[in-house]
Amino acid sequence: MSFLTAPLPRRITKAVKVGSVTVGGGAPIVVQSMTNTDTADIDGTVAQVAALHKAGSELVRITVDRDEAAKAVPRIKERLLRLGVDVPLVGDFHYIGHKLLGENPDCAAALDKYRINPGNVGFKARRDKQFSTLIELAIQHDKPVRIGVNWGSLDEELLTRLMDENSASDAPRSAQMVMHEAIIQSALLSAARAEELGLGADKIILSAKVSQVQDLIAVNTELASRSDYALHLGLTEAGMGTKGIVASSAAMGMVLQQGIGDTIRVSLTPEPNGDRTREVQVAQELLQSMGFRSFIPIVAACPGCGRTTSTVFQELAQDIQNDIRTNMPIWREKYPGVEALNVAVMGCIVNGPGESKHADIGISLPGTGETPAAPVFIDGEKAGTLRGETIAADFHTMVRDYIEKRFG
Ligand code: SF4
Repeated sequence: MSFLTAPLPRRITKAVKVGSVTVGGGAPIVVQSMTNTDTADIDGTVAQVAALHKAGSELVRITVDRDEAAKAVPRIKERLLRLGVDVPLVGDFHYIGHKLLGENPDCAAALDKYRINPGNVGFKARRDKQFSTLIELAIQHDKPVRIGVNWGSLDEELLTRLMDENSASDAPRSAQMVMHEAIIQSALLSAARAEELGLGADKIILSAKVSQVQDLIAVNTELASRSDYALHLGLTEAGMGTKGIVASSAAMGMVLQQGIGDTIRVSLTPEPNGDRTREVQVAQELLQSMGFRSFIPIVAACPGCGRTTSTVFQELAQDIQNDIRTNMPIWREKYPGVEALNVAVMGCIVNGPGESKHADIGISLPGTGETPAAPVFIDGEKAGTLRGETIAADFHTMVRDYIEKRFG
């Protein structure tokens, strides 16, 4: 009997340089995010891009929807560089991108990639002209593009033609399958047109965004089988909180497991006044939990059960996790490789020691009725037992000492 213990080999795609970041061609899967500030608000946008980058976003997309926003872009880039934030910026355009980029060459130069939605570049004859202009501007400024098809703004003419052909066929497919085909064809036909206009395949990233998990899996699996363009994955309108996290992880996890996907974005709807960087954290945790990349040490904690009635172990796990998150920007520089660290915080000595032994450093706190002692395991061996009021503080110190010794 054989078990699948790893994702399938990564699909070979064209490598695309987006500023200093490589997407595709076997490069590590890139985490990206998008601001929700008005781009014309330079202070607000600079602050959010910097926060997203600090959280780990390797590309940040900003909306460029009008002249004020386009004029703000070079100033945003300049301010970010002055702050030492060198993250590639992607401009998101709809309908008037050709005009904004043409009239604002500094904006066109400051951006590292242009996102074009073929369903939103205009209608009928104007659409071809506007799409061509955008591609010509990308060629002129030596920038890559993402041809990002979204099921909510699908090319109407293409969809209608495919629906008509389907109705006239002897074996008509479901409307859902025709919609999938329209999304895939919209992406591939637009990419072929961009290449005809002179844009290299190594300047094109494709995405096909839908809002349902099964649609995302079906569309991206098929799209990947028909081309070797780099692929951006993301579930659009994923939703808020756990719903958005679960849906994005389930959908992208299935596609990534097949070796498909070169960059991901988790499109979470933030809570009112919520933290925009949450989407970056979720994207990193998805890639790390699947074994694709390591970003931050993992703190494994048991869920707790009737054997432990105190919240001490939950508080300790949270405390250690927060300490790691806060210190990671410094630790990343100071302790190369620290992101691969595994810490375990367990709630009792029934299963705790076994789990702790599998971590680099782990602790089993006393459960209900157990001796108030907490054995600590380091690299699979018992390294000591903590007791008394200072268990949490002492374990903190042991974790920091371990990091210093192993990665310092
Ligand atoms: S380690 Fe102990 S407290 Fe935690 S879930 Fe397992 S049995 Fe329950």
